[in-house]
Amino acid sequence: MLPEASSLWLLQLLRDTQLAQFYRPILEELNVTRPEHFDFVRPEDLDGIGMGRPAQRRLAESLKRYRSGIKPKNWVYKILGGFAPEQRKTTTPSESLPVLPEPDGGLKCLIPEGAVCRGKLLGSGCFGVVHQGLWTLPNGQTIPVAVKSLRAGPEGPVGTELGDFLREVSIMMNLEHPHVLQLHGLVLGQPLQMVMELAPLGSLHARLTAPAPTPPLPVVLLCLFLRQLAGAMAYLGARGLVHRDLATRNLLLASPQTIKVADFGLVRPLGGAHGRYVMGGPRPIPYAWCAPESLHQGAFSSASDVWMFGVTLWEMFSGGEEPWAGVPPYLILHRLEKERARLPRPPFCSRALYSIALRCWAPHPADRPSFANLEGLLQEAWPCEGRCVRDVTESGALRMESGDPITIIEGSPDSTTWKGQNGRTFKMGNFPASAVTLVDLGGPLATRPVHRGSPLRGERHQGSTDRDREKANLRNLPAARGQRRNVPLQKMKGRAERAWSHPPGVPGGSESLWRRCVYSHSESQGRPPFPPE
Ligand code: ATP
Repeated sequence: MLPEASSLWLLQLLRDTQLAQFYRPILEELNVTRPEHFDFVRPEDLDGIGMGRPAQRRLAESLKRYRSGIKPKNWVYKILGGFAPEQRKTTTPSESLPVLPEPDGGLKCLIPEGAVCRGKLLGSGCFGVVHQGLWTLPNGQTIPVAVKSLRAGPEGPVGTELGDFLREVSIMMNLEHPHVLQLHGLVLGQPLQMVMELAPLGSLHARLTAPAPTPPLPVVLLCLFLRQLAGAMAYLGARGLVHRDLATRNLLLASPQTIKVADFGLVRPLGGAHGRYVMGGPRPIPYAWCAPESLHQGAFSSASDVWMFGVTLWEMFSGGEEPWAGVPPYLILHRLEKERARLPRPPFCSRALYSIALRCWAPHPADRPSFANLEGLLQEAWPCEGRCVRDVTESGALRMESGDPITIIEGSPDSTTWKGQNGRTFKMGNFPASAVTLVDLGGPLATRPVHRGSPLRGERHQGSTDRDREKANLRNLPAARGQRRNVPLQKMKGRAERAWSHPPGVPGGSESLWRRCVYSHSESQGRPPFPPE
């Protein structure tokens, strides 16, 4: 299903005359594999594959130009040939290698225009719109897909948008991971379309901000999402890529318990001894998610993705709030560096998880954990499960009934009040510690406290009041019977899946505004921005 490298000239020629839909018929029905073969193609043959006479004339002219050595636009090669050119301060071995898609048995391919029909609009981004669609395979089977169409002017797609679109395609073609959105193929039509795996439940951000009566997500499911994200990001890092746009808006829900990293428009290859990508010019970047070195020097690395992971964690536990809302972009860097401010701990984020976010926000990239480390740290911070042993009706307390599953967010042996989430109602709040017993997970007795209670380094720098600290006695949980230090993810995953068993409803609500500002380090210091990237 993949185009042969030897027939790319044909693709190029046809696309240049807006006749890309005839690529397969010309190749397969007329057996044209070399330019000379057209000498034996009669107008009736072209009629036979449905090409009208005006189109035939365009093709003849284009062929003449091609044979006389005048090179048409070469963007098709860019689709199949790797990253579009851009300024880079570093080089990688992958730069010199063609990134032709490998026939790996997957579904990455050129898809005939007629095989994809677009349905309802899912949303729109910087350079196009995304529709839900149906892709009909040659064997008649249909697959629900998402179709991203490149917005085009009257002259067709041009410039940065085309470059970004093609870059996104060429990157996605080479990725395969359970938590990375899969590209199925490309439609070389008008408009140019990317056919992707459909994430039927939309973005995590939309789900987080869905209005009542949609309940909040189970805390344990958020932890599972973080684990999935760390795994996907470790995979991208191992492939020498930096995402640069990690945020809940770019995490799509493929199922109620599965997120997929999406939106590869800002992905770049890492290079050089430092494994960095340095921006060459002003491009929109998601300012409030960015690490200081990205804002200062336009430098991105796996460590700056880790910083963004911390902001994404913060978004998840703050119900999809916008980070640094109300703070002008040029002040964010100042607050991060001069005031050493950090996003505050969301009320229902445990100290253990918040301490992970703070580690992601270490000023020096080298001090941040790697994504592989993060997977382990998240496991350590996994919340305990408990069960309610009596009805709780006290005013101000989290309502619960005997038998309700309770996720413990914060608690300590010396405290009479704990904080948690009711797995039946998904409501969160404080409750009397005596009302809940910890669930025995079936492992050996553990002695370690589940949550460290010591004040977190950096918490004092946070930007807003930390109401939770007033309840500072919520520290270490009692040694939980059966609580194990390293409960396997599989087991945790099962718990998360169960926790979600109450249908969350189709995500609703609109994406909140988020800021992707054209800013550079120089601009943030009051000087003009970078030259174009
Ligand atoms: P930008 O591309 O400018 O970074 P974006 O991420 O909002 O912004 P797109 O990637 O074009 O833009 O996506 C537009 C919308 O379509 C988003 O709201 C996203 O949630 C939705 N969307 C994108 N891809 C899919 C998909 N595979 N399945 C379901 N929804 C999708």
